[in-house]
Amino acid sequence: MSLKGKTAIITGSNSGIGLGVARELARAGADVVLNSFTDRDEDHALAAEIGREFGVTGRYIKADMSKGEECRALIEQAGACDILVNNAGIQHVEPIDTFPAATWDRIIAINLSSAFHTTATALPLMRKAGWGRIVNIASAHGLTASPFKSAYVAAKHGVVGFTKVTALETAEEPITANAICPGYVLTPLVEAQIPDQMKVHNMDRETVIREVMLTRQPSKQFATVEQLGGTAVFLCSEAAAQITGTTISVDGGWTAL
Ligand code: NAD
Repeated sequence: MSLKGKTAIITGSNSGIGLGVARELARAGADVVLNSFTDRDEDHALAAEIGREFGVTGRYIKADMSKGEECRALIEQAGACDILVNNAGIQHVEPIDTFPAATWDRIIAINLSSAFHTTATALPLMRKAGWGRIVNIASAHGLTASPFKSAYVAAKHGVVGFTKVTALETAEEPITANAICPGYVLTPLVEAQIPDQMKVHNMDRETVIREVMLTRQPSKQFATVEQLGGTAVFLCSEAAAQITGTTISVDGGWTAL
């Protein structure tokens, strides 16, 4: 499968799943635009390195996905957007009654509203190009819930709903919109949750991983960023041209329970 000549923008892609997805799209031939809110030499170097490794153009554009105008500027600055992967996301684990309101707002902005702003700006470019793929990285928490993750679960359910609306509004066009729902993937985001979970559940690290994190993942294995990237590449393929408005779980059986 070749995505040669396509430009893919992946939000929140200097780490974790976004980086894994960017690498797999580049491996499939797409020019990639990496993004995060920082503007360090190493961010630009990372994109250039992916470009060199896979013989594509690798660019990095700084934009803060908590700000609507920067989400829109990311797409505008890229100049083309055949593949849009809305991946940027943050997490906070705390009971509702003490959950800080500012953190709620930030999670909704980065994990949900950013996808609205990028999609709104990307759709005219996709329509002009006559082809488009939107891949939203939701979560098993876009389909199920867990305690102490109110903002995250609300945002991810929102992403799944937004994906369906995007698919319906583009249904007669050569554009698809789908959401990937990963279970646990060992990335910096998950690594950062471990101390919080240890505190909330009063458990040591290994017990939290086995009993809390992977308790709902029947495979008892973390999914990998390469598997997420491969799923995104599939959704960009011709075989997936009639797959739109749906979710694909990559969760080791979580949602089958
Ligand atoms: P991560 O922390 O490794 O990566 C998150 C990325 O988002 C980073 O590149 C970070 O720089 C970027 N980011 C954060 N705030 C940003 C902002 N304001 N503007 C721009 N970029 C910003 O986390 P990850 O695990 O790779 O998560 C990526 C996505 O996958 C998230 O949407 C997350 O909810 C989702 N997800 C992760 C898992 C998992 O187990 N890791 C499971 C399900 C869903």
